[in-house]
Amino acid sequence: MNKGQISVHTENLLPIIKKWLYSDKDIFLRELVSNAQDAITKYKKLVSLGEAKSDDEFKIEVFVNKSQKTLKIIDNGIGMTEEEVEKYITQVAFSGAEDFAEKYEKAKDEEGTIIGHFGLGFYSAFMVSDSVEIETLSYKDNAESVHWQSDGGTEYEIGEGKRQTRGTEITLHISEDSEEFLDEWETRRILEKYCGFLPINIYLTDEEKEKKEDEEIKPVNDTNPLWLKNPSECTEEEYKDFYRKVFMDFNEPLFWIHLNVDYPFNLKGILYFPKLNHELQSIEGQIKLYNNQVFIADNIKEVIPEYLMLLKGVIDCPDLPLNVSRSFLQNDGYIAKVSAHITKKVSDKLNGLFKTEREKYEGYWEDINPFVKYGCLRDEKFYDRIKDSLIFKKLDDKYITLKDIEESEQKEIYYVTDQEKQAQYIELLKAEDIEPVLLTQVLDNHFVSLLEYKVQGVKFKRVDSYISDSLKEEEKIDEKLTEKVKASFEGILEDGVVFKVESLKSDKIPALFVLSEEGRRMQEMAKMFGNNMNMPNPEEAFVVNSTSPVVKKALELKDKEVQKMVLSHIYDMAKLSYKNLTGEEMNAFLQRSTQILDKIM
Ligand code: ADP
Repeated sequence: MNKGQISVHTENLLPIIKKWLYSDKDIFLRELVSNAQDAITKYKKLVSLGEAKSDDEFKIEVFVNKSQKTLKIIDNGIGMTEEEVEKYITQVAFSGAEDFAEKYEKAKDEEGTIIGHFGLGFYSAFMVSDSVEIETLSYKDNAESVHWQSDGGTEYEIGEGKRQTRGTEITLHISEDSEEFLDEWETRRILEKYCGFLPINIYLTDEEKEKKEDEEIKPVNDTNPLWLKNPSECTEEEYKDFYRKVFMDFNEPLFWIHLNVDYPFNLKGILYFPKLNHELQSIEGQIKLYNNQVFIADNIKEVIPEYLMLLKGVIDCPDLPLNVSRSFLQNDGYIAKVSAHITKKVSDKLNGLFKTEREKYEGYWEDINPFVKYGCLRDEKFYDRIKDSLIFKKLDDKYITLKDIEESEQKEIYYVTDQEKQAQYIELLKAEDIEPVLLTQVLDNHFVSLLEYKVQGVKFKRVDSYISDSLKEEEKIDEKLTEKVKASFEGILEDGVVFKVESLKSDKIPALFVLSEEGRRMQEMAKMFGNNMNMPNPEEAFVVNSTSPVVKKALELKDKEVQKMVLSHIYDMAKLSYKNLTGEEMNAFLQRSTQILDKIM
């Protein structure tokens, strides 16, 4: 047996590495299983070249043992000779770690952690172990078994081993603070998460659990995930099953896109458009990123366009340089290409549905519109691709397209953000034969601004701005009437409220508040910047409808007490359908309502 000493300049690597990776200790298992898989892949390659014989089933076995406090990972891959252990494990592992420690100080300043923590490899075993042993036998003729052991410091032992068959057995002597990894279910969970789609069968066994006769152990993983199959060979059921299994979402997805690129880069994956859970109203997707079937992480925003995070899916990028920092990824041309490709595929799919399955597309719109709008806002290219498939739902549940609006004479479209609250205004527009569209998403504010900016002449106006605009146009104000009505409202209106009288086509509404589109948008902007002073908006006006019979009668009333009561009520009703009443106002309104009831009986 030989003892060796590695010259490492940094004394205590382990504490640094433990601290760095603390939140993500699990990944040691991914690293070791990936190494096992690489070793098998290399051996398979030799077999295919006729340089080695294939015998047994290729497999990776994981054993946990609570009383011995060990976790073993065994593969029947290529194995290592003593020289190779020295070269690849001792030198590479330790120098790699030293390198890592050097970069640590620099890397720390960058946001978050290094993606996937790749590049740490074998050494990550020491995050959870007091010591690590390797037993390995190379495939090479006359190779001798090798045993290696180290406690992660700067010393190690290497000598003759006991392994009789080709391959490598890594034994982790699990440290006290990592005993969860001795638990079969915890280990299974981690294997499923990171290695659930690895191409080589992985078997997990609790060595202490009695094995029943004829019990067949099933692999932890699915070695042939759906995304690798040819799209033409996948059935609808398979796509749905895969979705359920991977995302634990028992709502069926609406539709999906199977990505399958070989050139100019490698990319495979499936993107699902989920059904939104309207009760929760939150749209949160999940994009799982894989590197050659090994799970890396969820929702890595440097790799996947942000708006795609609203979808659910898996993306396998075998060429992704993962052992680099995030800021590098952000500026990487490869990532930009991947992103552009996905954008194209998604828009092609949507445009295809719009053109050939319009009804279906309209049926999906409720669920997909937040995604589409967000995409348009975040990515100009996406907007350019998708703009002809943008549609708007009208109150009668029919749809019009952006083109329809663009090609109409007015190029002006009224919209409703809250059907209940804006019922009065909708009524008003109906009387004028104007059909508004529904825009109920928080995002719609920004979305309409984008459309107005992009499409020449198109203008979006919320329904409560209708009167305000028409007033400005006509400028035919009856001054005498206005003065008279205004005088009657004295003492009822708060200071600063702009007062107008207008004869509306609909006589059903006695009075209402209006606010010009610009005025409202300004107000919303101010709010967004935290400027929430409750000042009356100069663009806001209280409009009394002179065609309303209620107004007419009220103005004729001799009993001034009753007149005040009625006009106050008219004022409160207008307020109620425009904004919320304060507690005090609501109280007064209800009390007055009771008085009115009392009067009419
Ligand atoms: P990486 O996998 O990134 O190269 P590692 O530190 O994980 O870095 O491993 C270093 C090297 O040790 C591997 O490249 C491989 O040559 C060798 N190795 C590690 N695990 C095994 C194994 N199970 N079988 C054969 N060789 C292995």
